[in-house]
Amino acid sequence: MVSASVEELTKSFSSIGFEEPKIKEILKNQKVSSILDHLVKLAPPSSSTTWTKQERSLLHNLAGLINKGSPNKSLNEQYSKLIVEYIVNGNLKTNLQVESAYKYTTATTGAAIDVKDFEKQTGVGIVITEDQVRDRVAKYIQENLETIQTERYKSVPGLFAIIKNLPELKWAEPKYFKPIIDQELLKVLGPKDERDVIKKEKKKSSKATGTKTASTATTTAKERSMFTEGFLGDLHRVGENPQAYPELMKEHLKVTGGKVRTRFPPEPNGYLHIGHSKAIMVNFGFAKHWDGVCYLRFDDTNPEAEAPEYFESIKRMVDWLGFKPWKVTYSSDYFDRLYELAEVLIENDKGYICHCTAEEIKRGRGIREDGTPGGERRACVHRARPIKENLLEFRKMRDGHYKPGAAILRMKQNLESPSPQMWDLIAYRVLNAPHPRTGDKWKIYPTYDFTHCLVDSFENITHSLCTTEFYLSRESYEWLCDQVHVYRPAQREYGRLNITGTILSKRKIAKLVNGGYVRGWNDPRLFTLEAIRRRGIPPGAILSFINTLGVTTNDSNIQLVRFESAIRKYLEDTTPRLMFVLDPIEVVIDNLTEDYSESCVIPYRPGSKEFGDRTVVFGKKIYIERSDFSEKVGDKEFFRLTPDQPVGLIRVPHTISVKSVQKDPATGKIIRIIAHYNNDVKIKPKTFIQWVPEKYALKVSETRVYDQLFKSENPAAHPEGYLNDINPESEIVYKNSVIEPNFKHVVENSPWVVDDAKKSEFYVAEKKGCKEICRFQAMRVGYFTLDIESTDEKVILNRIVSLKDSVSK
Ligand SMILES: [Zn+2]
Repeated sequence: MVSASVEELTKSFSSIGFEEPKIKEILKNQKVSSILDHLVKLAPPSSSTTWTKQERSLLHNLAGLINKGSPNKSLNEQYSKLIVEYIVNGNLKTNLQVESAYKYTTATTGAAIDVKDFEKQTGVGIVITEDQVRDRVAKYIQENLETIQTERYKSVPGLFAIIKNLPELKWAEPKYFKPIIDQELLKVLGPKDERDVIKKEKKKSSKATGTKTASTATTTAKERSMFTEGFLGDLHRVGENPQAYPELMKEHLKVTGGKVRTRFPPEPNGYLHIGHSKAIMVNFGFAKHWDGVCYLRFDDTNPEAEAPEYFESIKRMVDWLGFKPWKVTYSSDYFDRLYELAEVLIENDKGYICHCTAEEIKRGRGIREDGTPGGERRACVHRARPIKENLLEFRKMRDGHYKPGAAILRMKQNLESPSPQMWDLIAYRVLNAPHPRTGDKWKIYPTYDFTHCLVDSFENITHSLCTTEFYLSRESYEWLCDQVHVYRPAQREYGRLNITGTILSKRKIAKLVNGGYVRGWNDPRLFTLEAIRRRGIPPGAILSFINTLGVTTNDSNIQLVRFESAIRKYLEDTTPRLMFVLDPIEVVIDNLTEDYSESCVIPYRPGSKEFGDRTVVFGKKIYIERSDFSEKVGDKEFFRLTPDQPVGLIRVPHTISVKSVQKDPATGKIIRIIAHYNNDVKIKPKTFIQWVPEKYALKVSETRVYDQLFKSENPAAHPEGYLNDINPESEIVYKNSVIEPNFKHVVENSPWVVDDAKKSEFYVAEKKGCKEICRFQAMRVGYFTLDIESTDEKVILNRIVSLKDSVSK
């Protein structure tokens, strides 16, 4: 082969679409370059074919194979041409195929190629679909479930090798394997959790510089998105939801422009809790992910339970989680239209006014006197009323002729249906309550069952996403839309997010609040969203956590410790560190003068340059943590300060040693340590501890260290009631804590945003000036932030989470 110039080679490679960086890389190997150039020339002219990235890469690999092959087996022109053609035609799709083709042809010394045999040996024409790969992978996982469940995600590399080599999958495209294995494993193992974290070597002591590796796993790892896989990934596309009247779809698509439209429809009768964060993320997030829109719709059809503070709180929480409603609407906005459709329902003979008592209605639905279901279902006498009479009666209801309970509008559904949602649901009832938005206008109010689907329809919702307890409602939802001839949105149901080890019920939390067990609805130990925010948990951490759980039709029951562990991981990557002494002992260094000062430069987060450094001034008097000193002499397990063991102070050049200890004669409590600064000798300490200079220390009035509010995993199951399960140490308040002066800088510069976190789809920008965003990590003690009650004069800190899992203590 005549060797071509770099210029000619560049031209040749770019003719099939290689880009400059790649060409440079190829050119590093002269021989391969020359062979590749030759192969390019064997291919049909580039004008008649478009090279895909895959094809280019296969050709490059073929050049590599030829280069590695023994010289006397060098490929003849005819064979090379054949392989190149098969690559360009898309018949050889994988490296394995190209390799087989190369092997086959080199073995066929000089003879004519038996094309059929060639194709057979190289798997040409064998199409293994993604579904076939998935089935085979699922089957393999099922067959080896026990081992896989034990090894969990550690089994991935081995699994990958085995699956790849299964004979049925020999010719499958390798790109399928990894995602399918991941998805199938997720189904059987659930998302990764602590069990899948490879434990770092247990450190005997905390080093001066802390963890050296800047772990940014939570934020930089290629994120999977809950919007493209699992339940949300399987949802229909806009326009694909079936209609009883297809002409309505045209109108719907015209209005939406083919974009996703969702809604988050809370009832404004309480504070949102952690479970709602999933509903918010599913609805707002799904729309946002697909460039659609999401309504915040207050489902205010029950005026008796609603209060203004709930409306405000719900708006605040949606905003806090980083979502912007396209429009804020109210079910009550549609009362007129709903009323009109109720009349339409009656006119279509699908609604009737019933005067039965609640008891009679139950009986008609087959609920026996002892409360058990399954009895005979029968229509009441009112069901057969003529349309005219129903209309008349309905208007009488509207006009205030009936007291609450004396008349209701019921849907005329199907009592034969096995679904209770089809047993003539109530559509309208009389309520003598003024409505916060419509005042005295209405005496009758529509029910959830009547309102929800119709308002979804009015708002042209494409995906009405709700939790699985509404599964049976889907039938009545669609039934009603069809009966009144309106666009039928698609209701789809996903599993709820539950946190165990706490309580979320409004009624139960109210008891805790009213009984003075907690500091209100936003007490940091509760799991209302207001509480979670106050505690300092970043909204981005919640979204990332929900994303890792994924969305399926199964409920996610998450232990509190697991939730906290996810928060901890998030904070580890995103918060600066400060020296903070929870329970201080004063240390006076006898060989330093009062005005001695030594500036120590300490990184805010060792290993992460973008966090920057700060200076802390070391001097004669400092505070150290009470637990960093032990009076016990000769304890091999204790690496910190003892009467016979010096200790290092973080980033201070020399160690200190104890000279004497002063105690409060009344209590025996240590009040002061007299120490010596070993600036005359070099001593290598076993470890380094935190310190805060007394001269510059910021006093913390209250440090509230929180732990779980309840002792058990299921407080509601406590035989004497959940109030008896309260953990007496769920809040411990320290009144003497001190913190290094740079806390001011942290507060001024919060929220502390790391570039990596910003890249995440689940990053939420937080507003400056809020108390809860002033987060920092205090070595050994945990993550902290300012409480909302904190002031400049009276600093109050909340512990967000401890540094380690409480279970692994
Ligand atoms: Zn009746």
